[in-house]
Amino acid sequence: MSESCIIVGASHAGVSLALQLRREGWAGPITLIGDEAELPYHRPPLSKEHLAGEKGLDAMQLRPAKLYEDNNIELLLATRVTTIDREARTVTLESGRKLGYQKLALCTGASVRKFAPAAGVENVHYIRTAEDTAQLESQIEKGRRALIIGGGYIGLEAAAVLARREVSVTVLEMSDRILQRVTGPDMSAYIQSLHESFGVQVLTGVEVDNIKAQGQQMLVCCTDGKRFEADFLIVGIGVLPNTDLAMSAGLDGKSGIHVNEYGHTSDVHIYAAGDCTVHPSAIYGRNIRLESVPNANDQARTVAANICGKQQVYDAVPWFWSDQYAIKLQMAGLSAEYDEVVLRGSVTGGLEASFALFYLKQGVLIAVDCVARPKEFMISKQLIKAKAQIPGSVLANEEIAPMDFAAS
Ligand code: NAP
Repeated sequence: MSESCIIVGASHAGVSLALQLRREGWAGPITLIGDEAELPYHRPPLSKEHLAGEKGLDAMQLRPAKLYEDNNIELLLATRVTTIDREARTVTLESGRKLGYQKLALCTGASVRKFAPAAGVENVHYIRTAEDTAQLESQIEKGRRALIIGGGYIGLEAAAVLARREVSVTVLEMSDRILQRVTGPDMSAYIQSLHESFGVQVLTGVEVDNIKAQGQQMLVCCTDGKRFEADFLIVGIGVLPNTDLAMSAGLDGKSGIHVNEYGHTSDVHIYAAGDCTVHPSAIYGRNIRLESVPNANDQARTVAANICGKQQVYDAVPWFWSDQYAIKLQMAGLSAEYDEVVLRGSVTGGLEASFALFYLKQGVLIAVDCVARPKEFMISKQLIKAKAQIPGSVLANEEIAPMDFAAS
């Protein structure tokens, strides 16, 4: 009898892994298990076009239902796996049903960090699932007041949508600048001024102390004495990897399920991919955990190949994008450890701005953030992978085309 593979988690990583398994020639049963009721869907539009009312859930399906059937992939939706028995090689579902596997892949993703002061308060929303945005939708109405806790991607993308829908928006960020986790100060300042030009109030260095319900409204009190009235709240203060299932099965991991460069966990029969994993990065010389759709898809495809007997190493350059108003922010690499930043173009001009910010560490290009600079973005991905040393004077020189960076 042919071997079976169970995949836990039916979002970007899980779906990519299942389909790639078939492409790699996996002949046995494949069962893809997800705890949401909807057919697996693209998550990025949740805080963008979907929230804006421009794209319905039907148009966000990762793959049509028929494709799972055609590939003989059994899809178990609204189904939660509660335990893994590594000895018996079975998983148990919430219903008590047990399923056996020869290979198991954990693609369990991440869940929102809950905001303690908002516990038990009504009209508080998170954005991670289709159900979250369906609930938030009922709050959006011209003239209402939204308070957004967290100036990360979620908070800022939601702010841009709500501002366009004529909601009055205030963003409260605890750090001294927005997008602090993912970008440098120049980009933070550019994005903040863009939001302010659309009437969004952005306050940094502000920490919420408590929230009091006031009838249908709420009063948000900060530690520095500031107070804000709001009709509803959106929280975007980050995500936590879903590792409980893996940890209770005794797999290695701390702030994510530990996998090696092949996507193997500490159990030879169990693999993992996507937001829930911590993997070694030769590019950065350390273990990293990424929260990104491209990483979920690419790592999952590599894992599928390895489940089928290949020995492919996963070491992609991370990349991300964000749509806010009419601008597309494209980012490649991880900038956190930079010691030099080089600007090409100009950060002024609001929606018309066109620039790239290159981040270097000891002369090596480690990351780039681009607005309206697709060529710089594409070339930089290759240069980051190659750990290229490019002088700042070359990167900043608009007379040198991006494709000639390495040769200059
Ligand atoms: P995020 O990118 O980690 O940003 C959360 C922000 O909230 C950070 O700036 C954080 O500051 C701040 N924060 C934390 N605690 C706070 C508090 N008590 N009060 C005020 N601010 C606080 O997470 P996210 O925006 O919630 O997004 C969730 C996930 O979805 C992330 O993985 C993100 O990458 C992903 N996502 C990606 C995209 C995209 O790629 N375009 C779009 C949407 C979501 P500190 O850094 O100081 O903690």
